[in-house]
Amino acid sequence: MQTLQNIIGGKLVTSTSPRTAPVFNPATGEQSAVLPLSTTAELDAAVAAAKLALPEWANTPPLRRARHMFRFKHLLDQNVDRIAGAISAEHGKVHGDAVGEVQRGIEVVEFCCGIPQLLKGEFSRLVGPAIDTHSDRQPLGVVAGITPFNFPAMVPMWMYPVAIACGNTFILKPSEKDPSASMVIYELFREAGFPDGVLNIIHGDKEIVDGILGHPDIKAVSFVGSTPIAEYVYRTGTAHGKRVQALGGAKNHMVVMPDADMDKAADALMGAGYGSAGERCMAVSVAVPVGEETADKLIESLAPRVRKLRIGAADDAEAEMGPLVTRQHMEKVLGYIDAGEREGAELVVDGRGFKAQGFENGYFVGGTLFDRVTTDMSIYKEEIFGPVLSVVRSPDYAHAVKMINDHEYGNGTAIFTRDGDAARAFAENIEVGMVGINVPIPVPVAYHSFGGWKRSLFGDHAIYGPEGVHFYTRLKTVTSRWPEGIKSGAVFHFPTMN
Ligand code: NAD
Repeated sequence: MQTLQNIIGGKLVTSTSPRTAPVFNPATGEQSAVLPLSTTAELDAAVAAAKLALPEWANTPPLRRARHMFRFKHLLDQNVDRIAGAISAEHGKVHGDAVGEVQRGIEVVEFCCGIPQLLKGEFSRLVGPAIDTHSDRQPLGVVAGITPFNFPAMVPMWMYPVAIACGNTFILKPSEKDPSASMVIYELFREAGFPDGVLNIIHGDKEIVDGILGHPDIKAVSFVGSTPIAEYVYRTGTAHGKRVQALGGAKNHMVVMPDADMDKAADALMGAGYGSAGERCMAVSVAVPVGEETADKLIESLAPRVRKLRIGAADDAEAEMGPLVTRQHMEKVLGYIDAGEREGAELVVDGRGFKAQGFENGYFVGGTLFDRVTTDMSIYKEEIFGPVLSVVRSPDYAHAVKMINDHEYGNGTAIFTRDGDAARAFAENIEVGMVGINVPIPVPVAYHSFGGWKRSLFGDHAIYGPEGVHFYTRLKTVTSRWPEGIKSGAVFHFPTMN
């Protein structure tokens, strides 16, 4: 069985750690690889390699850094299917979904090809007599990224291409559940000609995360994962003086107004609720029809669609969703379905007991639909991260908005309506970071930035796009004059234009 290796200073290095974790194929339930849970000494070696590579990389002209990015993008384009295969084998998502993930990651690399333009500073002539000021953004140094299982290629690519294009060097700690996609992509990164030590990969668990958070040579940490860990990473990292952006969990609501096209709204809910088996931080897990009549019509449209969901392994070309990532996660999701039933929600479609033919040991849960969910139920309050959609009936629009604003998470939300006034008011007043108007999964494109509000993001910067460039750089402002412009004599008052 394959044992994964770390990448330190451009070399594949076998970990000496006695601790390991199994990696599974979620469709078959069989172990496919062994992952080393690396030691802090191995992290230290990766940071040392990143530090060694830093001066030359930080001083490489941005245009040259961009040329590396162009080559990297080209190689990624040629290897989309291969990367998607590595994702599906460990995550379980169906091939088309994995391809979409890779493409969204490539778009971030495309954005980074424009880094010379993005790093351009400002210049002001004559801020005082014969005095000019210019500013620009400089890299931070060695920075790190800690990533979740649900987008094993795209989420790391939200981080290291931007950081590296800005002139930093990078330590990536991928999810221990599906680490192989990052290894495949690293081969292409190396082939693109990036110098050794610019990107390092260390596999591990909490021990490595804690090592990163306390490491004196790591200047900034990007984290994406569940909210309790995001909060921990933010607090611990900032206590150690680091810049931290920590993106957390979500409970995304989609409001369906009485004037919405019910078939289109139901189609949107199917993709957003059950695509990737609900394991997306932008998945819609709560549908909020406004008015009883809207709710009845929506359930009528949704229920047969959920019953007809095509569920299978990644290589089943017809499959719309695959298994959950691990047995533990499957058990957690099944536990939530039990809880919803116990707490009194109406179970319209029950996904428990689903078995995929030929994959009886896989971690499959069937599409599940609850109606008449109330806001005090655990299936409403907590992130389930599975193919479970809750319908919360709202008497009116104002109640729907208040419910969303009162929720602890604020990652994404959507409204389906034909009413421009309602849509505009929703976008204005909703306390959520990413809003879709008749768009169920409003993940911003690579040249905007991604970030939730409330307990879905800890820190001041959203990720990738212009905010990513700001996160991975610091501003320097230089004010200058030359001897001819300097008047003789000491000046003791604070400098002003008067
Ligand atoms: P997770 O929090 O379990 O793990 C994320 C990372 O943290 C992994 O690399 C893991 O090794 C590490 N980790 C786990 N436990 C730790 C601990 N006790 N101390 C230190 N580090 C620890 O998340 P996951 O299950 O891999 O991913 C799913 C979660 O990620 C969901 O909550 C989802 O909403 C969230 N997510 C959020 C976004 C976003 O952009 N907001 C995007 C994708 C996923």
